Amino acid sequence: MSSRTDTLARRGLMLVISSPSGAGKSSLSRRLIAEHDHLGLSVSCTTRAPRPGETDGVEYHFVSPDRFAELIAEDAFLEWADVHDHRYGTLRAPVLAALESGRDLVFDIDWQGGRQITDRAAEDAVRVFILPPDLPALRARLQGRAQDSAEVIERRLTRATEEIAHYAEYDYVIVNDDFDRAYEQLRRIYQGEQLRRRRLPGLDAFVAGVMAGRV
Ligand code: ADP
Ligand code: 5GP
Repeated sequence: MSSRTDTLARRGLMLVISSPSGAGKSSLSRRLIAEHDHLGLSVSCTTRAPRPGETDGVEYHFVSPDRFAELIAEDAFLEWADVHDHRYGTLRAPVLAALESGRDLVFDIDWQGGRQITDRAAEDAVRVFILPPDLPALRARLQGRAQDSAEVIERRLTRATEEIAHYAEYDYVIVNDDFDRAYEQLRRIYQGEQLRRRRLPGLDAFVAGVMAGRV
């Protein structure tokens, strides 16, 4: 059912989702994107190699270390960081275009990126941290995902506590124990944040119209 308020212009938001690797942020984000037409994934650049099943331009833009360095020199990144021995970064131009056209983006980025986005675009950012219920569950999920070698999994687990230590820099924290429950919490955060007054530049005109009896 549509209503008059559906036509209100809205500025897009940046849904920054961080967690230790394996806590479930990709699964939660994928479902949120699949269920919301105006929400897409911010596709980062990375210097790591594609995993089986990953496609250039879909999960990531896979670039060489030299190309990544050029993009840094051109100031093309909204944020970038070294994570797990590789470089990851968010290109600025597609993000700004999306926000201006009222589209929302999910950012699957680490705490370093979350911090840089807060410094540069705090008004547009909504930061959500996903916690695992405990470390054995995190290990089991990384093993169950069957994408990484035992050695890579051990490194990700070592880094998990470092990532978790930054949970207090986020606006919202979700414990992903039961997936459906965690998803419902994320959906409510996203839908509530869309209604923030500062994201509705058409509101003044709308209210003026209400007052004047035009709507
Ligand atoms: P991340 O993106 O944070 O690295 P993923 O979304 O890839 O994590 O999830 C890691 C693995 O854990 C995947 O195999 C996923 O299906 C599984 N998973 C995610 N959430 C849950 C949950 N609540 N309970 C059990 N398994 C989960
Ligand atoms: P993966 O290699 O498993 O895809 O990602 C490893 C880590 O890099 C994850 O914690 C993910 O959130 C983070 N990451 C992915 N893209 C970016 C990015 O553009 N910027 C930052 N800062 N971190 C990223």
